[in-house]
Amino acid sequence: MTSSLTGSCLCGAIRYTVDVPIAELRACHCTNCQKASGAGGSVNAVIPAAALRFAQGAPKRHTGVADSGRTLHRYFCGDCGSPIYSQRDSAPETVVLRAGTLDNAGEMRIVSHIWTKSARPWSHIDPAAKRFPGQPDAPPSADRGPAVPSG
Ligand SMILES: [Zn+2]
Ligand SMILES: [Zn+2]
Repeated sequence: MTSSLTGSCLCGAIRYTVDVPIAELRACHCTNCQKASGAGGSVNAVIPAAALRFAQGAPKRHTGVADSGRTLHRYFCGDCGSPIYSQRDSAPETVVLRAGTLDNAGEMRIVSHIWTKSARPWSHIDPAAKRFPGQPDAPPSADRGPAVPSG
């Protein structure tokens, strides 16, 4: 696999590269992601903030309180509205990248679903994936189960 991934917002004003490989994705069914996406939630890659570099443009920021109670910054294109990533105020070293903005899906798959207690009844949840009713509170160094992205 290539070591550098690229992505953009819908209108192309924002372009970025990711310097780490992404194989595992996490779907979030929290009510904030539903509102922010206009869909059932978001599908994300949890990556180090240092791996995300903006090649063009700069996203706008919306700061709010997440369903977890934490302060969460959501970054999006101010021109077309595409959500790009989110970042916890308390954990700036990690970003949660919206996987649908990547140019190439590669071999990625969803391995876990979080905030399933607020999932829309029409959202599909793969029974083979891990489920968390709320926020899985595992920092990167303390993953409790196999194949669960941290955060
Ligand atoms: Zn845009
Ligand atoms: Zn969410």
